[in-house]
Amino acid sequence: MPMSHAFEQRLHPILLEVVREFGTPFHIYDEEGIINSSELLKETFRDVYGFKEYFAVKATPNLEILKIMQRLGFGFDCSSVPELIMSRSIGAIGEDIMFTSNNTTLEEFKVAATDGGCILNLDDITLIEKVPVFPELICFRYNPGPKRTGNRMIGDPVESKYGVRHEQIVEAYRQAMERGVESFGLHTMICSNQLDYRYMVETVKMLIEVIELISSQLGITFQFINVGGGIGIPYKPDDRPFNMAAFAEESKDLLEQFKQRVGYVPRFYMESGRAITGPHGALIVSVTNRMSKYREYVGVDACMSSLMRPALYGAYHHITVLDSKNRPVETVDVSGSLCENNDKFAIGRPLPKVGEDDILLIHDTGAHGYAMGFNYNGRLRPKELLLCRDKKVKLIRREETVADYLKTFDFESRVIRPGG
Ligand SMILES: *Cc1c(COP(=O)(O)O)cnc(C)c1O
Repeated sequence: MPMSHAFEQRLHPILLEVVREFGTPFHIYDEEGIINSSELLKETFRDVYGFKEYFAVKATPNLEILKIMQRLGFGFDCSSVPELIMSRSIGAIGEDIMFTSNNTTLEEFKVAATDGGCILNLDDITLIEKVPVFPELICFRYNPGPKRTGNRMIGDPVESKYGVRHEQIVEAYRQAMERGVESFGLHTMICSNQLDYRYMVETVKMLIEVIELISSQLGITFQFINVGGGIGIPYKPDDRPFNMAAFAEESKDLLEQFKQRVGYVPRFYMESGRAITGPHGALIVSVTNRMSKYREYVGVDACMSSLMRPALYGAYHHITVLDSKNRPVETVDVSGSLCENNDKFAIGRPLPKVGEDDILLIHDTGAHGYAMGFNYNGRLRPKELLLCRDKKVKLIRREETVADYLKTFDFESRVIRPGG
């Protein structure tokens, strides 16, 4: 079920007009789809204690998208200073923000503490000494190590650079208590694009065991557990969607049992990105060249600067061709124009026969699409559009220009002569 059927139905009749007006390439996001699936998420988790979603800003760092998240009542999961600044610029404050950095610098801690602060999520035990201003509420990212296996995209926990290892976790909270912290949460993130809900249930079980362990040794209670992101979406036509209802139901049962054993219940947080916006975006490109080399090529007017996932992870993105009913099918590589042979959106893909100026829809680019784009080879990032609920189409980020690319040469030069 790549890209929601409803989004396709909304997009198809207007796409040519949008292309004529704005020009390709662009990512377009479906406000209706984002809101509907987010409302469904909230409804599904309504009975799961204190449920809150902290949208992973890195998935779709666009101010208009973040405003939608805020209207939905979601918080923001940030992991860099620009992400903090973006979230705060639309009014997020204090516990609306979870700051989950890795290999954190002093500068990042300082910004995290200013402007109303945030929930600080520490990624290593050694960081406790380095935090300049300790907030009242602190959280650690837990890494279970050999107790769990991860998946291809994020790797096994033992290989991962993230989080506090199991043998250090009690000590980490003890040290935080010594620094005067009184409120605690526990966080983890050990999978990516996971389609099996049972893996996430195991994660809830794991977090509950860890807070029981810590509580039994230190006598503290936990305000929340945060299961991280990593919930998958069906990129391939025959992928089975993640069973959100079963995940909610079984998480609730686990928390209920915890409550009966221990006498209180922590709130349940998640910080999904992909599951919230992934299926509600598409990259729209035009065919620039049809080429027959040792393989058949469909060259398009976007490249890895617009969408990196296929080249980076060999990720599958479904592709359809606008108005291509009844055309014969051929097998092609869909390529960009970067000087990297892996700059391909699809390899050996059966597609309806296309020619120059055909419009291709590259599906499911609503998360980790635009966001990962880069400027290698002087390739510029595309514009972003929003198909609004009221059926208007709005430019929500302009495309990069050569002037943007050259902006980093616009500075006062400085020269030193080392040793002299
Ligand atoms: C990337 C990331 C997320 C979001 O991941 P999705 O796969 O988009 O759900 C959440 N939390 C942290 C700490 C992350 O790094």
